[in-house]
Amino acid sequence: MSKQVIVIGGGVAGLSAAIYARRSGFDVTLCEQHSIVGGMCTSWRRKDYLFEGAIHWLTGSSPKTQVYQMWKETGALGDNIKIYLHDVFRSIEWEGKILNLYRSINKTAEHLLELSPADKQEIRRLVKMVKLFTRMQMPVMDIKGVKVQNPMRMTLGSMLKMMPALPIFTKMNKLVCNDYFKKFKHPGIRKLLNFIPEGYSASAVIFTLTTLETGDGGYPEGGSLAMTERMAQTYKNLGGKLLLNTKVNKVIIENGTVTGVKLEKETLSADAIIVTQETIAALDRLFDTPPNDAWLKKLRETTKPAVCTFISMGVRAQLPEVIPEWQLDEPIKYADKKITDIGFVSYAGYEGYAPKGCTALTTAFMGDTYDFWKKAKEEGRYDKEKRELAEQINRAFCRKYPQAEGNIEVIDIATPLTYEHYTGAYHGSWMTIQGPDDKMGNYPGVVQSVRGLYFSGHRIIPPGGHPSALAAGRMAAQMVCRQFNTMFV
Ligand SMILES: Cc1cc2nc3c(=O)[nH]c(=O)nc-3n(C[C@H](O)[C@H](O)[C@H](O)COP(=O)(O)OP(=O)(O)OC[C@H]3O[C@@H](n4cnc5c(N)ncnc54)[C@H](O)[C@@H]3O)c2cc1C
Repeated sequence: MSKQVIVIGGGVAGLSAAIYARRSGFDVTLCEQHSIVGGMCTSWRRKDYLFEGAIHWLTGSSPKTQVYQMWKETGALGDNIKIYLHDVFRSIEWEGKILNLYRSINKTAEHLLELSPADKQEIRRLVKMVKLFTRMQMPVMDIKGVKVQNPMRMTLGSMLKMMPALPIFTKMNKLVCNDYFKKFKHPGIRKLLNFIPEGYSASAVIFTLTTLETGDGGYPEGGSLAMTERMAQTYKNLGGKLLLNTKVNKVIIENGTVTGVKLEKETLSADAIIVTQETIAALDRLFDTPPNDAWLKKLRETTKPAVCTFISMGVRAQLPEVIPEWQLDEPIKYADKKITDIGFVSYAGYEGYAPKGCTALTTAFMGDTYDFWKKAKEEGRYDKEKRELAEQINRAFCRKYPQAEGNIEVIDIATPLTYEHYTGAYHGSWMTIQGPDDKMGNYPGVVQSVRGLYFSGHRIIPPGGHPSALAAGRMAAQMVCRQFNTMFV
């Protein structure tokens, strides 16, 4: 009889783990607490609008990358899935001018040189770095000690190709973003490059620009929800069991080995369990006595969670396809934050996101405001605070785009509590902020103190995001194969 594997959570990591484990011949049950799969990788409808909640740029959307192979194997992407590659990646207003970051680094450089000839040297350095970084890509490798049908190896050639980029990568990784921006004399350029949340190292900026330069980092047709639904379909076609609306309350451990999970009304037995609920929350909630392996302790103590408040708006007006970030004449205030600049992602260029003549827009305010919203909830002010924030955004938007006045049909605010509610993540967090000197490389995922217990999900491969979740799922399935001496397919 096949060994039973239970996967807790149907986000990208859980779907990936379930697909690969099923393909390798295990009897797999995926338990997802929500009524849909996707976890953080989701979209939602309000009235006639579709709001994209996660994919802004997808690493591995280009068939030239190794990550693409995994997206393809899991059914997330394929030859028939259109990938949008917009020319302008980011746009801001600066003293009456529009400054853009383009996909092509040469085009960006030309544009910035025109704006600030005094920054010629630093712009040239940026171009050089981006071009050098194109030699690097997210490595997808097999874990040690597992039999693999089609091994994913880094060839000596690709390793040698990367070598010249490594010293610069190390240097940029040690630099905080803000210190890097200071190298540019023009304040507009400093602001334009400042698209990564506070605290990250400068390598994150260069890597993003590199991803775009290589023709990667596109947006798949249908967005996040459609993509994870395709993954769920792949899993079901393989004969995997998908239990929606099924929350796992506890992992059962007997004599140092997992034996199953406790649901609301029943118990399911298992030979191996892959936990993809966000790791910190899972440690707190899924165990009577959480495993105390040193790497889990380190993860819990050092992780800096990326958290946001996400705003989606449906406007009965045809707005531009690019809405440059602008400086507010009156800052938006909420929690202990003062938002001085705001920009929106416009879905005007995509079919099916809004009725004809209307536009779907989204924006995110970064920062961990979990405690503020939690307190507001406890004190019965949650809805009022959300309404007040919505009104401020509404006013700010209509001052800039008067055609929106009286035409904002939907304004929806997802707080860290919303994310926590729908995904069970610690503070509703969805990535890990990776600053200078933070841990590089993967956490082991395997729990030495409990046989058959594996952690997966974005936290295992910092800084997280969709490709990390995807790779972490595959890695966990390989660990299960290794445990039972099974060929990984
Ligand atoms: C606003 C926003 C923008 C983003 N932009 C990007 C981007 O542009 N590029 C990028 O790469 N990444 C982006 N991300 C991050 C990316 O979405 C996440 O890192 C990734 O989806 C995490 O996947 P995961 O499977 O590890 O975790 P999750 O998505 O959190 O999945 C965990 C799943 O487990 C389920 N679950 C939890 N507890 C239980 C339980 N006890 N029982 C059963 N089920 C349970 C949850 O419901 C959830 O479905 C963004 C995220 C957000 C929110």
